[in-house]
Amino acid sequence: MARLTALSGLGAKTPAAFLLELAGRRLLLDLGEGPEPGVRPDLSRAGRVDAILVTHAHEDHCAALPMAAQLGHPPVWATPRTFAQMPPALRPPVQNLLPDSGTARVLGLPLTLGPAGHSPGGVWLHLATPGGGFTYTGDFSLESHGLPFVMPPPAATLLADASYGDRDDSLDDQLQAMAQAAQGGAVLPLPAAGRGADMARRLQDAGLAPMICPALAPELDIALPRVTAETARPDQVILCTGPNGESGLAAALLRRRAEGFRFIFSSHVPRGTPAHDLIASGAARWMGWNVHPRRRDIIALADATGARRVIPAFTDMAAAPNLAAALGPRLHLQTETDL
Ligand SMILES: [Zn+2]
Repeated sequence: MARLTALSGLGAKTPAAFLLELAGRRLLLDLGEGPEPGVRPDLSRAGRVDAILVTHAHEDHCAALPMAAQLGHPPVWATPRTFAQMPPALRPPVQNLLPDSGTARVLGLPLTLGPAGHSPGGVWLHLATPGGGFTYTGDFSLESHGLPFVMPPPAATLLADASYGDRDDSLDDQLQAMAQAAQGGAVLPLPAAGRGADMARRLQDAGLAPMICPALAPELDIALPRVTAETARPDQVILCTGPNGESGLAAALLRRRAEGFRFIFSSHVPRGTPAHDLIASGAARWMGWNVHPRRRDIIALADATGARRVIPAFTDMAAAPNLAAALGPRLHLQTETDL
């Protein structure tokens, strides 16, 4: 018997927590918190968990790891870079390592992994099941130049990131708009362990001279001038953390907004964040920068892997009629699925 139970992550942009029962093992795939502040999975139905597998280090996939105490402290598995990118408080004392790609065994269960094109060291997971195989993408993107995506093996059931629902704009078009808007200087707040390297390189290719905060420097593969709260000027193009102005250099420069710093946010913007209020009042812009799949990418993944059932995660499908129509009979919305 194999069964998938969505404890959290279906029907809305809620934290990832999926229970996979397979060959007598109970694996929890991700254990996130947010992105809306304080939203955590309800683990009251989780029962015994033998291992937790974390796809990448973003908070909505790993920030509820302290809740593992409720599950009897099962061992946690992730890639080395994912563990390294977790905030120290989330890092488990014992780190069970998964490869960035290839095969591995977790408690005797064979699985296949590959890079998901979304964050450094972030992976999708594939497991053989009696019903023809199962793939969980975590978050994924087919559009990143700097982060590779490798197509997973065939699987009958695909649990896929669909965070953007119907959105089908291309990153190439978003880049042109962003480069134009940032001319003359802009602060571009970003999450760590995400699109920093990709955005820096593409803005540079578009003729801009981006600068970075020290927090983003370790994940960049090109050398860029660094900027701090003391040296920043409004005429610079500044890539910095935190993504919604709540922390990092972005928060420091928000306090100096009267000096002429312009802000362009591009992440999911939860209510209650500085970005939310600034955008709502017209004092800052929001512009798209895809780090999740377009509608066409979800369909491409489903087609390439031969999925007969596609479970769209992290989205409200009532707001994505075009994606629903494109998936047709493959669309599967139940929280419990036999695999
Ligand atoms: Zn993510």
